[in-house]
Amino acid sequence: MTPKPKYDIALIGGGIMSATLAAMLHEFDPKLKIVIFERLGEVAKESSSAWNNAGTGHSAFCELNYTPEKEGKIDIKKAEYIAEQFEVSKQFWSYLINKGLIDNPKEFINSCSHMSFVFGEKDVEYLKKRHAALQKSALFQGMEYADDHKTLEKWVPLMMQKRMSSDKLAATKMDQGTDVDFGKLTSKLIDYLKDKESIDVFTYHEVKDVSPMKKGEWKLKVKNRKTLTKHNLKAKFVFIGAGGYALPLLDSSGIEESKGYGGFPVSGQWLVTTNPELVEKHNAKVYTQATVGAPPMSVPHLDLRIIDGKKALLFGPFAGFSTKFLKEGSYLDLPDSVNFKNIRSLFGAWWHNMPLTRYLIQQVTMNKSQRMSHLRDFVKDAKEEDWELKHAGQRVQIIKRDRFEGGRLEFGTEVVVNKEGNIASLLGASPGASTSAFAMIMVLEKCFGEKLKNEWHDKLLEMVPSYGKKLAEHPELINQIREYSKEKLELEY
Ligand SMILES: Cc1cc2nc3c(=O)[nH]c(=O)nc-3n(C[C@H](O)[C@H](O)[C@H](O)COP(=O)(O)OP(=O)(O)OC[C@H]3O[C@@H](n4cnc5c(N)ncnc54)[C@H](O)[C@@H]3O)c2cc1C
Repeated sequence: MTPKPKYDIALIGGGIMSATLAAMLHEFDPKLKIVIFERLGEVAKESSSAWNNAGTGHSAFCELNYTPEKEGKIDIKKAEYIAEQFEVSKQFWSYLINKGLIDNPKEFINSCSHMSFVFGEKDVEYLKKRHAALQKSALFQGMEYADDHKTLEKWVPLMMQKRMSSDKLAATKMDQGTDVDFGKLTSKLIDYLKDKESIDVFTYHEVKDVSPMKKGEWKLKVKNRKTLTKHNLKAKFVFIGAGGYALPLLDSSGIEESKGYGGFPVSGQWLVTTNPELVEKHNAKVYTQATVGAPPMSVPHLDLRIIDGKKALLFGPFAGFSTKFLKEGSYLDLPDSVNFKNIRSLFGAWWHNMPLTRYLIQQVTMNKSQRMSHLRDFVKDAKEEDWELKHAGQRVQIIKRDRFEGGRLEFGTEVVVNKEGNIASLLGASPGASTSAFAMIMVLEKCFGEKLKNEWHDKLLEMVPSYGKKLAEHPELINQIREYSKEKLELEY
């Protein structure tokens, strides 16, 4: 099969974002002719793949960087925003299960307590305040706090081994947390979509260029990486869900909104164990404070993972440096991405982020024994032979043009859309896959606003019953949708 000459919608990349957008669009209008291109032999092999990310269903239950302390007060606004975004994803996945479009939710989502764990008097004080502040929001009801060793031994036995009774420690625990295999979810979605008559999915097909045509259409140049044949085709709407390769494709489109962006690749590594004795003693995702200079996505955590029905523990991430923009990318990605439009932003971001540069150099030069000593902050008697070093996915931190600093590093997820609303792209990494449904609704609002309001609104409400409402202001709705997704996604808390 070869691509048709014309589609309504072209989605570049077979990760969680394209799969989510394609599923939504097909539900709204099954007649839309949709094509998905993936450059690798299978979908979900880059960032969305289970071992390439930490699988945290980011809900701000455990991530301390979403609740900064400002003048002695804990600001919970960002935490509420993140928690709401994940509730949108859970509602959408519940809809997919309820309609029978995908099945067996346990294959991609499982209950797993989310905990914050801190060391030392200052951080214990902060955690206590954070807990009190979050208790005022309906989104965080049920979060428990403890600073006595007896309770902590029950919550995290592996982490409490060999602690001194004088150690100042504290933790919060939220049993509604989740571990998500975003790769499995993506594959389930694409398997469902590729059987539809109106949808074509091509693997081994790399989109090389996206350029504007007359009448608001886009021309895509596509190369089959197996047969080396080339294809040109047209699409009315393009979504660039190409992960680390989104930047160069966005640049090829020439849209005004893409100018001044640069990218800085950060690779990652985990320490992983499948030793049943250790796994048995750790049933949570445990996040702590970041070290000075570390970017928010490098906050250390010790996580239970459930992948293909098997349990494992993962510790990290350790940041690394590679000039590739994708794990399966090219070492020339970074040098090729530098041009006269973004060089000022790149230089500015580097100059104003010296602590980050120092942090990365320190991380890159660590050997396994040094990484083990970081793990021993969490698991005092961790033994090197139990833990194996595994490569995580590649992230491309966005660098945005900034009037004052030249360029600024951005750590969030950013949706870039042109003013005509016929091309959109997703940049950035965090909070990432957890926000896939929320982020794709944002793309729909920006690009299909009228249709969403006039034709697709009822369907959207069926998919996401809380759409249009701020959950933090509707406690009764939170309980309702959480009960609904608990049942549909077979969560156990
Ligand atoms: C170390 C690490 C830890 C993370 N932890 C978490 C976490 O705990 N929770 C969370 O929610 N998120 C996490 N994330 C973020 C999350 O993994 C990403 O936000 C999400 O997977 C991005 O999905 P995507 O579809 O945009 O990109 P990807 O999954 O990377 O998919 C992009 C696809 O596009 C393909 N592609 C690229 N260029 C082309 C082209 N030209 N033509 C055709 N195909 C192309 C690629 O091969 C790839 O398959 C983490 C990420 C990393 C790297």
